[in-house]
Amino acid sequence: MSPDADYKTQQQAETLKKLEANPRVTVIRVAAPQNCTVGQMIQGVYAKGEAPTLPVEGCSRANGCICTYEPILEEIYP
Ligand SMILES: [Zn+2]
Repeated sequence: MSPDADYKTQQQAETLKKLEANPRVTVIRVAAPQNCTVGQMIQGVYAKGEAPTLPVEGCSRANGCICTYEPILEEIYP
C-alpha cells in the first residue's frame, strides 16, 4: 500500500469514528462515484459499527478511491 493510501485510510477511519461518536448521527451512508466499481457494490446505508472500511480495497478508480462516509442525521422536532 502506498503512503498516500495509508493516509487516506487513516483519514477515513477518523471520519467514521467521529460520525459514530456523534449521537445525532443515526446511520452512516457510504457514497461512491459512478466510476468506482467496488464502491458501487458497497454503496448504501449502514448502522453504526457496520460500515465497511474506506477506501475500499480493490477500488479501481484511476486517481484513487474517493468513496466517502456521509452522516444521516436524526431529525429533531422541538
Ligand atoms: Zn472507491
